[in-house]
Amino acid sequence: MDIVIFWFRRDLRLEDNTALIEALESGKQVLPLFIFDQQILNELPWNDARVSFIYDELGKIHEELRQLGSSLIVRHGNPEEVWKELIDEYEIQSIYVNEDYEPYAIQRDEKIKQLADSQGIDFLQFKDQVIFGPNEILKPSDHKPYTIYTPYKNKWLEKFRQSPTNPLPAIKRNHFLKVNEEFPAIEKIGFQKSAIKVRAYDLSNVGQYQQSRDFPAQDGTSYLSVHLRFGTISVRQVIDQLGESDQVFLSELIWREFFMQILFHFPEVINENFKAKYDGIVWRNDEDEFEKWKKGDTGYPLVDAGMRQLNQTGYMHNRVRMVVASFLCKHLLIDWRWGEAYFAEKLLDYELSSNNGNWQWSAGTGCDAAPYFRIFNPTEQLKKFDPDMEYTKKWVTDFLPPIVDHKFARQRALEAYKAGINSN
Ligand code: FAD
Repeated sequence: MDIVIFWFRRDLRLEDNTALIEALESGKQVLPLFIFDQQILNELPWNDARVSFIYDELGKIHEELRQLGSSLIVRHGNPEEVWKELIDEYEIQSIYVNEDYEPYAIQRDEKIKQLADSQGIDFLQFKDQVIFGPNEILKPSDHKPYTIYTPYKNKWLEKFRQSPTNPLPAIKRNHFLKVNEEFPAIEKIGFQKSAIKVRAYDLSNVGQYQQSRDFPAQDGTSYLSVHLRFGTISVRQVIDQLGESDQVFLSELIWREFFMQILFHFPEVINENFKAKYDGIVWRNDEDEFEKWKKGDTGYPLVDAGMRQLNQTGYMHNRVRMVVASFLCKHLLIDWRWGEAYFAEKLLDYELSSNNGNWQWSAGTGCDAAPYFRIFNPTEQLKKFDPDMEYTKKWVTDFLPPIVDHKFARQRALEAYKAGINSN
């Protein structure tokens, strides 16, 4: 019997899932699949909180499918090898996936597409994780990608108003293939459950977002980032609920898509400054200071609170992310790539495009970055955004002496940046 396979990746939900709905509309029975990709897992510690989260979400999907007489097929290994086995095992007519725009995912999908093509199987990809894909918002003058956020946002909004999103139809629940597969224990893929849990998202603050979003103690943000990362909610569902009711909030979702298209069109940003004129900066890269920054032992209370929040919960408030990133690059003159890598290891919401884009923004090397001479004063930031130290005292109880004097560090950074630009 011919079937179609829907392959879950970063879209861990049954409802409002474009490629899944398309698969269920195909008229064929749908087998839902997830592959724990060994190449990704190899890089992660045994108790990685993101793996735990993915595992739990898959468990929920599996249970829902069980109610429908189906199962989630979970495989573990190199995706190409897994697909070869699946092709042997089933009569597959088509493979349905949602598009993924990261360089690794593009390469992976290209390989699977070639394999599918060679077997006469259709490999069908659908836009799902964004409102507008990387080639949908281009400069009208030359059809090149935008590298400045504001005109990108204006174009995005113009297009959005012309073609608002609509919720997708409900899934056809009786079109899943009837199979009875066991859901594997997490130990089978070499992991254990993490003590760090992902917080549920909360859209109730969105009306007051502009007033509260910069104050970490107010907890005024949505906590959507992890959910958008792994697709436990779709960006359409968020926008269908909120529309344009909060322009500032919507503009943050547009930043997400802005950085996704930057990474798609300029994948070299992974290793390089977006602006080559900063290539001459001589980073100090002091290992001891980097360790202190990682632990939250810099003696700057807001920086330390942020890093400790990150280490303990896998999350850090956005205002504080900006302060710790600026501190690393400017006060300590440590290469933004070091900070980016540490965030990548710790953040539950780690997203290559947003992480890279924001680190380059903080370092001043990015496409539409903060000017290099804008150096956050971490003490002033604390006074302004956590005046009662409510947030800071939650994470820091031992107030250490600063590892570097602010005035001195500011001057040193200005000189290093200037010299770097002039040497180029
Ligand atoms: P909210 O303030 O409620 O925002 C709603 C959503 O908008 C977020 O969930 C996110 O999808 C998007 N968003 C908000 N701010 C940004 C932004 N500056 N850039 C891109 N998208 C944004 N965000 C990530 O999702 N993954 C990362 O790896 C990441 N790394 C970062 C590194 C640094 C140095 C900095 C300064 C920011 C980083 N951000 C990253 C952006 C931002 O800090 C988080 O998206 C936000 O704090 C997540 O919390 P929230 O969902 O409550 O956000």
